[in-house]
Amino acid sequence: MKTRLFTPGPTPVPEETLLELAKPVGYHRSAEAKAILKEVSELLKEVFRTANPVVTLTSSGTGGMEAAVTSLLAANEKAILLSAGRWGERWKGILKAHAANTHIVSVPYGKAVTPEMLATALKEHPDAGAVFATLSETSTGVGHDIQAFGKLVAATPAVLVVDGISGLGAMECRTDEWNIDVVVSGSQKAFMLPPGLAYVSVSEKAKKKMDATSVRGFYFDLRRSLAKIAESDTPFTPANTLIKAQLVSLKRMKAEGMEALWARHAKVAAATRAAVQAMGLELFAERPNNALTVIHVPSGVDGSGTLKAMEKTHGYKLADGQDDMKGKIWRLSHMGYVDAFDVLGAIAALELTLSATGFKVTVGAGVAAFQKAMAG
Ligand SMILES: *Cc1c(COP(=O)(O)O)cnc(C)c1O
Repeated sequence: MKTRLFTPGPTPVPEETLLELAKPVGYHRSAEAKAILKEVSELLKEVFRTANPVVTLTSSGTGGMEAAVTSLLAANEKAILLSAGRWGERWKGILKAHAANTHIVSVPYGKAVTPEMLATALKEHPDAGAVFATLSETSTGVGHDIQAFGKLVAATPAVLVVDGISGLGAMECRTDEWNIDVVVSGSQKAFMLPPGLAYVSVSEKAKKKMDATSVRGFYFDLRRSLAKIAESDTPFTPANTLIKAQLVSLKRMKAEGMEALWARHAKVAAATRAAVQAMGLELFAERPNNALTVIHVPSGVDGSGTLKAMEKTHGYKLADGQDDMKGKIWRLSHMGYVDAFDVLGAIAALELTLSATGFKVTVGAGVAAFQKAMAG
């Protein structure tokens, strides 16, 4: 049986990228390695939609988040955190570890933080040095109106820092146009690569703030990475095999084109939502994003057991809810190297699994709705 990965990280990796990963390891200070990093950095700027530098860190996405906090905030400095789920809580944990004075604006799981909530927080805390937000809240499937957040924060001295780990490369995000000062992303979500790299873009405003802050980190001091990336180099030994492979996947993304890539994700996401509803299931996110679809487990259905059965019988691996959400939601990723027909198979497998467990579903209803949405 084939196993098929539909988790919102890691995600499937294209064959040509896997082949690149099979090649011998090179020396990371060679002219060839620098040329590769230079090309990767240029292509990353295109994905981020920024003219500012994007640094590549050897860490998972959380390392990029920690780098942003460590480099931007002084001890006890005030920060505003917009939290809509587990990944907002990840910001909270990092901010706490760095002794930030954090004002938290939070909404229940499944809801989105609104621009109005941010406007109020900015009014109440004009001394905040930074605002932390999440593009795609992967724990609930919610997407945030980052463009509106950017407009609000740009009018203040604060910098806007966005966790774009699961959103970037799947959904529209225009770093410069939307006034986002720092965007963090990671290799194992929409970038079609295994886990291991984090990417961080830094605006002029953020750079100035870093230069005026006594940075408390060493490995994650972004000023170090920024100084080196200007010479297409890194301060420490990078995961150079992953960087070489990232070039292959980035070329694939460029060949498709960013607008086409966003449109493909939007279309598949809309078709998935139509299929879920046609199966008599409910969407979990009030403002769903295009990277993944999160489904409410219907009452009377064993959420975790259904996912296990689906994997065992059909080879489809979806993600359970995290922590308190375990057994309550199903998370189906459609970001990166996943096409409409891959997702169509996942819908078919979910229908068969639900039908086998006795849940009342018309087999084929979700598949038909998906097809209709794709044709429309
Ligand atoms: C996956 C994810 C993270 C965590 O990234 P790691 O690579 O596991 O450190 C953070 N934020 C969001 C939105 C994510 O989807």
